[in-house]
Amino acid sequence: MNPVRQIAFGYSTKCNIRCGHCVASDASISPKKMTLDRAMAIIEQMAPCNVTGISFTAGEPLIFFEDMTRLVKLCNEKGIYSRVVTNCFWAKTPELADDTVSALTRSGLSQLRLSFSRWHQKHIRCENVVNAARSCQKHGLDYFISFVTDFSSQDDSREQFLRDKHLKFFPEPVIYLGRAQGFNPPKILTDYHPNTCNMNPYLSPELDMFACCDGGAQFKETDFFFLGNLRDYGIDDLFRRKENNVLFHLIRTMGLTNIASYLGLKANEIVQYRKCELCEKLFNSRENLNTLEKAAASDLSNWNR
Ligand code: SF4
Ligand code: SF4
Repeated sequence: MNPVRQIAFGYSTKCNIRCGHCVASDASISPKKMTLDRAMAIIEQMAPCNVTGISFTAGEPLIFFEDMTRLVKLCNEKGIYSRVVTNCFWAKTPELADDTVSALTRSGLSQLRLSFSRWHQKHIRCENVVNAARSCQKHGLDYFISFVTDFSSQDDSREQFLRDKHLKFFPEPVIYLGRAQGFNPPKILTDYHPNTCNMNPYLSPELDMFACCDGGAQFKETDFFFLGNLRDYGIDDLFRRKENNVLFHLIRTMGLTNIASYLGLKANEIVQYRKCELCEKLFNSRENLNTLEKAAASDLSNWNR
C-alpha cells in the first residue's frame, strides 16, 4: 500500500515582516520564489504520487494572493487537503479579513493556520489574528492559531488574550535555529520521553526537497535531511528516499531519545535538550552521523525494549 504523503510547500521565502525568531528565513539570503507555472506543474505531479496534504508555508504565502488562490483551487480539484500558514497582515479590519477568507474558502482551502507570538505581534496587531479567526468561523473555514512561545512568563498575557477571545490555539515551541539561533534559550529539563518526530518533508522555492519541514533544512554541517532537487529526480523518488532511509524511520518510530542514549549521551544530558536541539546534536555532526549510519545497518534497529 502506498504511504500517505504530506508536504510543506515553500512557494516563496519572501515575507513582509521580519520576526526575530524566524526559522524559515536567513537574513543573508535574498528571498526566493518559484514561478506559478512551476508550482502548478509540481502539484499536478504530486497528486498521482499519493500526496494527500499540502501546507503552503513560510515566507508569507498570502503576499502572492492571486497565485495562492490558483494553487489552492488546483489542490481542491486534485483532492489534496490544503493549508495556508499566514501572519494575518491582511486582516486589518473584519471586512478585509472577510474578503480574503471568503476568497480562500471559494477556492476550496481546507484550513488556515494563523501565526501568533510576541515576535510576530511586534509587526502585526493582535486584532488582525482575531479578525482572521472570526472570519474563518463566519465562513465555516477550519482554522487554528499557532501560538509560538518559549514558555516564559513573558508570553502569559498573550496566551490569556487568546483565551479571553475563546479562540482555538495550540502552543508551539520556538525552534532555536534560523534567526533564533542567537537566542539564549532558557534551560529546561524535559521528561525522558521518546522524542519521536513525524517529519513532514519541505520543498523549497529552489526545488530542493528536505525530509524535515522545520529546522532540518538548516543542518548545514551534514545536510542530513537533504533529499535532492526536483530538477534531478521525480517527486516519487524523493519521497521514497525519505521513506526508505533507516535513520529517518528510526526518528519517526524509535525517537531521538533512544538514539541519543545508544550513541552514548547520558540520560541527565538528554533531558536538557529540546527535541530539535537533540536532533541537531545527533545529526548535524559528521562524527555522530558516521557512527549512526554504520549502526543503522547493524544493531541500532534492535536497540529497543
Ligand atoms: S516567522 Fe513567518 S511571519 Fe515571521 S518572518 Fe518568518 S515567515 Fe515571516
Ligand atoms: S526533531 Fe529533527 S526532524 Fe523533527 S522537526 Fe526537529 S529538526 Fe526536524
